[in-house]
Amino acid sequence: MGESSQYPKLNFEPHAAKIQNIALDRLRELTAGGQYSSVNLTSMYVLDRESDSKYVGLSVYSVPNLERPLFDEAIKGEFKPTHKGASFGPSWSTHWFKVVLIVPERFHKYGRVEFHWDANNEGLVYLEDGDPVQGLTGGGERVEWVLPKSFLNGKPHTFYVEMSCNGMFGNPDGDTIQPPSPDRYFDLSTADIVAPNMEARQLNIDFWILGDAAREFPSNSVEMHKALTVATEIMNTFKTGDQESVLACRQIAQKYLGNKINTADVYNSDLRPIVFATGHCHIDCCWLWPFAETKRKVARSWASQVTLMEEYDEHHFTASSAQQYYWLETRYPKLFKRIKAKVHDGKFQYIGGSWVEHDTNMPSGESLVRQFLLGQRYFQSRFGKRCETFWLPDTFGYSPQLPQLCRLAGMTRFLTQKLSWNNINKFPHTTFNWVALDGSQVICHMPPSETYTAMAHFGDVKRSVTQHKTLDSDETSLLVFGYGDGGGGPTAEHIEKLRRCRGMSDTVGLLPRVHMGDSVDDFFSRVEGKIINGIKFPTWYGELYFELHRGTYTTQSNNKKFNRKAEVLMREIEAIATYASIQKKRYQYPKKDIDHLWQLICLCHFHDCLPGSSIAMAYEESDKMYEEVFTMGAKLFEDAAASLGISIIPKLGSRPVAINNEQWPRTEVVRVPKDTVITNKQVAETHNYALVSASGPGIARVVDVKPTSAVSATEVSFGIFVLRNDKLQATVKGGHITSLIDLTCDREIIPQGRKANQFVIFDDKPLYWQAWDVEIYHTESREEIPDGKVTIIEKGPLRAALTVETKISSTSWIKTTISLAASTAGAGSYIEFDNEIEWDENMKFLKVEFPVDIYNTEAAYETQYGIIRRPTHYNTTWDAAKFEVCCHKWADLSEHGYGVSILNDCKYGFATSGNLMRLSLIRAPKAPDPNADIGRHKFRYAILPHRGGVTEEVVRTARDFNSPMQVSYVGQGYDDKLASLVRLNGAPGIILDTVKRGEDDKDIKGEEVLKDRAGRSVVLRLYESLGGKASTIITSSLFVKEVWKTNLLEDDLESVDLMKAGANTTFKITLRPFEVATFRLLLG
Ligand SMILES: [Zn+2]
Repeated sequence: MGESSQYPKLNFEPHAAKIQNIALDRLRELTAGGQYSSVNLTSMYVLDRESDSKYVGLSVYSVPNLERPLFDEAIKGEFKPTHKGASFGPSWSTHWFKVVLIVPERFHKYGRVEFHWDANNEGLVYLEDGDPVQGLTGGGERVEWVLPKSFLNGKPHTFYVEMSCNGMFGNPDGDTIQPPSPDRYFDLSTADIVAPNMEARQLNIDFWILGDAAREFPSNSVEMHKALTVATEIMNTFKTGDQESVLACRQIAQKYLGNKINTADVYNSDLRPIVFATGHCHIDCCWLWPFAETKRKVARSWASQVTLMEEYDEHHFTASSAQQYYWLETRYPKLFKRIKAKVHDGKFQYIGGSWVEHDTNMPSGESLVRQFLLGQRYFQSRFGKRCETFWLPDTFGYSPQLPQLCRLAGMTRFLTQKLSWNNINKFPHTTFNWVALDGSQVICHMPPSETYTAMAHFGDVKRSVTQHKTLDSDETSLLVFGYGDGGGGPTAEHIEKLRRCRGMSDTVGLLPRVHMGDSVDDFFSRVEGKIINGIKFPTWYGELYFELHRGTYTTQSNNKKFNRKAEVLMREIEAIATYASIQKKRYQYPKKDIDHLWQLICLCHFHDCLPGSSIAMAYEESDKMYEEVFTMGAKLFEDAAASLGISIIPKLGSRPVAINNEQWPRTEVVRVPKDTVITNKQVAETHNYALVSASGPGIARVVDVKPTSAVSATEVSFGIFVLRNDKLQATVKGGHITSLIDLTCDREIIPQGRKANQFVIFDDKPLYWQAWDVEIYHTESREEIPDGKVTIIEKGPLRAALTVETKISSTSWIKTTISLAASTAGAGSYIEFDNEIEWDENMKFLKVEFPVDIYNTEAAYETQYGIIRRPTHYNTTWDAAKFEVCCHKWADLSEHGYGVSILNDCKYGFATSGNLMRLSLIRAPKAPDPNADIGRHKFRYAILPHRGGVTEEVVRTARDFNSPMQVSYVGQGYDDKLASLVRLNGAPGIILDTVKRGEDDKDIKGEEVLKDRAGRSVVLRLYESLGGKASTIITSSLFVKEVWKTNLLEDDLESVDLMKAGANTTFKITLRPFEVATFRLLLG
């Protein structure tokens, strides 16, 4: 053999093995800017460019007063000549450009001619007829619009560019989350006709992905070395300015990327993909920009996507939030029509089923229901089908009831990824069954690339396996790519990169095989199929607690207060309007107005609004929305009440009453105006007090206070005050409760030597995200606020009260009214704290403490339709991470037989550490709103000692505390029909939470009419509040024909057997622990 071998005998040509790091470093030289740009590929991207005013005629209308007119109005403005290089501003202003373009003849030979526009801010190109076609994001990111072929004829063509003087992330002054600069100006640096060198552009992307393979594949892999060899060959082949060499280089790239990467055909292989990429664009409804700007961001972002779909057959795009579609529909009808067509083609995929991508920590149960009801009804009415996947990639933690509510809203899947931001523990699953408090489950997927704004990098595809935590069950995953947060979405570059990734997987392997073209629902359907076929996935029970952004339970506290008050108000409006519409022929149920108010409330649930993480401008807008809710809401309530003969103001011969909107007996002290004639009253400074009592739902009447239940306030020795009724005795010194005795149990609540209602202040300097985060170390800076000055203001017999004036600092103070009401039979007594605060601090956190003589390793917190139990200790890092948690109307620490609840009327942040209960009151972050929470606030909280653990007493008292009975007036002959409309008789844990009219009732048409349903119906939503299977008998004086158990969308699911039909209809229901159940009573 040796004799005949071709192997040369002699070698006089030395060849060095590759020095790997140098060979890798060299790859930068082909496409980098800077010193190589005149001699590398970047010098070849443009074949020709023209910006002379002969060809690009520019005139501008600068809109006054930071207004944002729509196209039809804007083009009526006075346009004045302008030029490339001119400067436009200030921040948030709008400038409309009329562009008259003549494409010079020398460009007509090119297959593709583009218009490039870059002012380093956001823009939108409109055709002459007002159709928006291309979003522009500036800063080199998305600057081109491909000119229609019809423009290449040497004639003038007109189009418009709407310039918004803000970037994708608003107008930050340096650091992104710092308050926006009001005075930014933007130079129009580019307004050019450009003939691009498409092959040079494509080679750039070939080489990018090839280089990534060389850099990111394991250095001991064959695939890495092959990538480096091919990339080096390209570098050695490329000759600056030589188009033939570009084509040759692209041929070389195919050795690694395959020969199908120039079209969508690359995805047509029979090799099984495991990473499913979907284009997406996360558009925050407000954040570092106002809501008003978002309305335009939606148009810019989605216009670009529709245009991109024309060019890329595989491009599929997913967008959530019915509100954003609704904005588009009403403001940009032409674009909406084109999107509708793409929805029809399956390319533009609506998702989420909710009105916006909302917070899920703080909205009430009914608020979450309305997100789905408004969202699903909108999608169904516009596109014919509901969503199957709930989509919240960016929200700050997830309520344990979401799986139940999703299932009840017709969705079986859930996508998020925010838990990848946890800064203590790593969440252990990628795809799993997430189980609600009642046992309902959804499939949850958290894309392993750990982002919803992937740039479709090689690394994103790679991490889809390397960071996948559920490979034992299923190796598939979603890759969600495209510019986001401030809008944008995928670019051509992203789609081209994914083609190369796929080509590479099919040619050399190793990289997970990515696919484009399936929908998110296709992905979930396959996973669902696997589960149905017996493949087990991990389970996660209870809340998906987010280990970051814990300050969002407290920041922008007025916004949170408005939310709570709006939720309470809507419940009252819907109930009374329902009764009025059934009872009074002339009263029309205000369905459109109610829908409108819920739309406003749901918009404000957006995950940067309610959590408090937006700029000041956004809160000016949300304050206006809430103002509308309260003004219109009050009117709706008054109208409905008036139709039933109940008046908010006294009339001649009327008597004062109150409405009990709950199912249990209530006796409460109410405020009555001075001029109301009333015998049994306690006189106070600006008003009187009366005791009203109702044995159940309906009208509460004024009653006498019994001497045994009277309350007193006394100064027992200098500076020591005692409030007492026959159930509680509180000793107050300097504004602190030094003793609280439950007289019925002979039990002291406050540990020896400790002080309850102690205000404490903390340094509040998180690691970065000021408005968002309070960090674990803040407790180390605890400082007690000194004693305040105490004065008795009310001495009974109905209410006894002290005021405490406390100085927090040289700039802040708090005035607290500590009160105790006369005790009432069958109901618990609590000490109430009604606060007015003037707050002006810098990065401080005010809380109030209640040390209690109770021992338990778990505390309980109210959440939507249920209870979350969380540790009071820090055994593990998972426990310690919950140092600040979200509660709704109450938090409770109970041991066997006895407990203490802290109630609140508008707060959400809480911490229970050992036996110390701490309610979070107010923060002072300086970014992104430098004045967040500075100023005057009012809020109430209370301490409720009680027998047993969490029982109906806690749940009911907290509800009553949040909607105290209000005095109103009826005539002498008033017949109270409210009392018998709906009555519950059974397990006390079942709460009747919502009474409303049926969405599709023919007589009350609202915004979305989906189906005409004959007859009138009343919808009752109930839930089991304590965590145990429970039954109740429901009786109604309405003439009921049929009762249906429905889902949240009011689809009839099962017929309910009536024990008695017709007048005084009676039926029995049984609920699982923490089940939410909706019933539709079809009236005869
Ligand atoms: Zn977001």
